[in-house]
Amino acid sequence: MRTPIIAGNWKMNNTIAATKALVTELIPLVKDAKAEVVICTPYTDLATAVELTKGTNIKVGAENVHWAEKGAFTGEISADMLVELGVTYVIIGHSERRQYFGETDQTVNARVKAALAKGLKPIICVGETLEEREGGKVAEVLVRQTTEAFKDVAEAELQNIVVAYEPVWAIGTGKTATAEVANDTIKIIRDTIAKLYSKKTAEEIVRIQYGGSMNPKNVKELMAMPEIDGGLIGGASLKAPDFSLVVNY
Ligand code: PEP
Repeated sequence: MRTPIIAGNWKMNNTIAATKALVTELIPLVKDAKAEVVICTPYTDLATAVELTKGTNIKVGAENVHWAEKGAFTGEISADMLVELGVTYVIIGHSERRQYFGETDQTVNARVKAALAKGLKPIICVGETLEEREGGKVAEVLVRQTTEAFKDVAEAELQNIVVAYEPVWAIGTGKTATAEVANDTIKIIRDTIAKLYSKKTAEEIVRIQYGGSMNPKNVKELMAMPEIDGGLIGGASLKAPDFSLVVNY
């Protein structure tokens, strides 16, 4: 019903030369994947990644997008610029952006709407910190982040949106949420979307990934859970053999 989607998040890694090597190695390794395959790269690698993946089953995503069409926003990149490059997906609201660059639920929502308006598919990241989990605030945080991210987004757009549940304490730490915890938490997000829109759309259309130290060793167990529709992969997306093992789980 919901096609699995495995996306790599390269973060601030890989020069153009490294991109050429990694993508060239990856293409044959993932060509028979049942999951949709996406690599999200730094802006400077996008053109190279798009060119190399033409005619393959790999789609390319960016790691952020600005909400304005154009103007005085030094250092930012617009949706039009990404579309012109042939980019398909864009990560929005990654916890590193929320933590280090002042991203808020409101700016996430503005970016989501700007991306959708130009035909880009957002991968919206939500997730609680360790403090919030230990303080019993997981549901509160996820309902808020999800509700704000989807504000003024039409139900018809939900087929173009992927949500990534990424517990902040599991990103780049080697600590993975257990499959049960990831599944139960994703259910909270899906129920929130059902309340905002409809149960049918939430259950049939919206894909929700797990992200946080997903790797070749734990991917099978996580992907076996009914609520988990894919993964957003950081560290393990930087080596073609590792990423292909995750993709071909
Ligand atoms: C991420 O950055 O989205 C992520 C999940 O990273 P890692 O897989 O390295 O934890």
